[in-house]
Amino acid sequence: MKQKISVVGCGSLGSLLIPKLAKICAELKIIDRDFVGGNNLRIFYKKKDLGKPKAIVIKSHIEKTNKSVEIKAIVDDLNSKNICSYLNGSCLLIDCTDNMHTRYLLNDFSVKNRIPFIYGGAISFEGMSAMFPPNGKPCFRCLFPKTLKPGSLETCETRGVSPDAVEKTACYQFNQAVKVLESKKPDFGKLFYFKCDNKKSGIAKIRQNGKCPACAKHIYSFLAGKNEHDCIELCGRGQWQIIPARSCILNLNRIKSEFGSKYKTKLISGVLVHIEIQKNKISIFKNGRALISAGTKAEAKSLYSRILGD
Ligand SMILES: [Zn+2]
Repeated sequence: MKQKISVVGCGSLGSLLIPKLAKICAELKIIDRDFVGGNNLRIFYKKKDLGKPKAIVIKSHIEKTNKSVEIKAIVDDLNSKNICSYLNGSCLLIDCTDNMHTRYLLNDFSVKNRIPFIYGGAISFEGMSAMFPPNGKPCFRCLFPKTLKPGSLETCETRGVSPDAVEKTACYQFNQAVKVLESKKPDFGKLFYFKCDNKKSGIAKIRQNGKCPACAKHIYSFLAGKNEHDCIELCGRGQWQIIPARSCILNLNRIKSEFGSKYKTKLISGVLVHIEIQKNKISIFKNGRALISAGTKAEAKSLYSRILGD
């Protein structure tokens, strides 16, 4: 049987891990909704890639030297409506996103379809990765039971990420992927964590939560689309409105100060903050609603996620 790996996310982590994975599998599917921007030029992407879809840039890069792997690059937002068509037939799912919602969605799909799943995340000087078994016990939702509200998660956009943290996380994910493909006892149900600055690292066992909606009760709310933000285009003008799935109260002063050093920002009467990221204008209201100028729905969702981490 052909071994088909699917990776979601072509940011710092994905761009380092995907070329390595291309050497060990027959088929690789890479999914990312984003385009290369000025803030992506540190680790993998070059100036000539600016404006191109990240998944396509990585695919072309690999195909120059590796003819034996079949790569499919999908430039789209992974959501409850398309996940089955994109990920069907995968023998391993790998998370390289920086988005909790997509991770819960991947987890639902992994548990329901009994596909092993490797989570990875790196921020600042630290990182984490966990290997979840095909029977889903434990699963990602056992590790992070509380779904977060928009704006409550720190993002690479605000804290940055060190190349060392990315490298170490990608390495662990890669080693786990090799073990899955070779059926050589991956660290199922274990969490690997580290801090580069004080050299602390370890591996911890993840306990299954007997009340976990996904792996204990088999209620797949993310697959059912219940926790998805509502994103609609207003009057076909390239203006999108996003209403978060969960109500929240944002600290707009914090958002202004975090993004003010990098982008043009303006706080209006304490009720909304305007942010300009390149040519995209984003207005975020206190309750998490946002108006975003963007070419596509995927781009609008990506910008929302960059600011609020969800
Ligand atoms: Zn679980």
